[in-house]
Amino acid sequence: MPNQSITAQLANGEREDAQVSRLITWLSAMAILFLVGIGAKAWYAEHHGHAWVLWFFALVVIVNMAHFAQTGNRAAQKGGLLLMVWLLFTYLIASGGESNTGPLWFYVFPPLLFYLTSLKTGTAVLLFCYLVAVIVFQFPALPMVSAEYSLDFKIRFFATLTFESVLCFVLEASRLKARNELVTLAQNHEQAAKTDELTGLSNRRDMHNRLSAELSRYQRSGHHFSIALIDLDLFKGINDNHGHDAGDEVLKAFSDLMLTVIRQTDVAARWGGEEFLILLPDTSLLQALTLAERLRSEVAQSPFRFRGTELPVTISAGVCSIAKTGSIDELLKQADIYLYSAKKDGRNRIAPRVRSRDTSKTTDVDG
Ligand code: GH3
Ligand code: MG
Ligand code: MG
Repeated sequence: MPNQSITAQLANGEREDAQVSRLITWLSAMAILFLVGIGAKAWYAEHHGHAWVLWFFALVVIVNMAHFAQTGNRAAQKGGLLLMVWLLFTYLIASGGESNTGPLWFYVFPPLLFYLTSLKTGTAVLLFCYLVAVIVFQFPALPMVSAEYSLDFKIRFFATLTFESVLCFVLEASRLKARNELVTLAQNHEQAAKTDELTGLSNRRDMHNRLSAELSRYQRSGHHFSIALIDLDLFKGINDNHGHDAGDEVLKAFSDLMLTVIRQTDVAARWGGEEFLILLPDTSLLQALTLAERLRSEVAQSPFRFRGTELPVTISAGVCSIAKTGSIDELLKQADIYLYSAKKDGRNRIAPRVRSRDTSKTTDVDG
């Protein structure tokens, strides 16, 4: 997903999956080399059956790689490799491989298993493999089992394999813990970088990004959008008369109120100081003006209180649609001009004014 942030890709494992896929490709290539090489060595040592089995496994790895190259199915690639590795190692234990050294390859399995699957799945699969190995060790008379191992070897094999498995489990668990902590940290930082601390709304930087994204959508598929630039009226007076804390409380209360008025798809940001910007996707100028008017009316009617004292809070806003301009800069400039005119006309109002067909009523915009 190219539009996702790096943090999002980390969080949903997209990046890790891609890394794992690359690792599996390398491991598969190495496995093919080993299998073909050791198979050739077995062939020249007159162990033709063993050589054919190793070459067959090399072919299975090649098929698995080819399937992944064609379908891009990572789960099948991973599952295929693990199944193949397990079958190969079981064969090596059962046959003894060259000079009964086959079981040594089993040590490759625990780290691979824990890295490629989850801790739970890894543990379950490993226990199952142990069971199969125990059966092979204990019942050398079973069909397909041709190797016999000394008791000392068996005990040491299981002891060292258990030690390795526990170590791999612990290391993988701490790797996952560190990774998750890092992702959480990155997510918090990313969130903080785009959030206004006081109000919890988007900050100016985040809004700029969203405006750019919305402009691209408009240019691509013609989806109109509008903005409303809002400024709290005579806010300096609130600070001067009731203190900075009162001003802060008003900013927060206004933000909360604004969120109850806008739609879920709209985005509200603190544009700076006591200025706010609302991005209204798929919204015409008239619809945006209607929403801004509703917000203005709600603010004017709602009581804003600080320590028991009612504070006079009203807003003015300039509204503009992308259809009226061509760029974000122009859009913002035009909204600012309207905001200025709303202030000039007496505040607690929205600009441009709506001009109805009945000329005795309010004024309408040309769009
Ligand atoms: P107008 O209606 O023309 O917008 O008048 P105004 O008083 O709102 O505008 P002005 O630009 O003169 O004052 C804005 C004030 O907003 C000044 C500044 O101290 C205050 N302000 C900006 N950010 C904050 C903040 O985070 N908290 C508080 N309490 N006040 C803030
Ligand atoms: Mg201002
Ligand atoms: Mg103001």
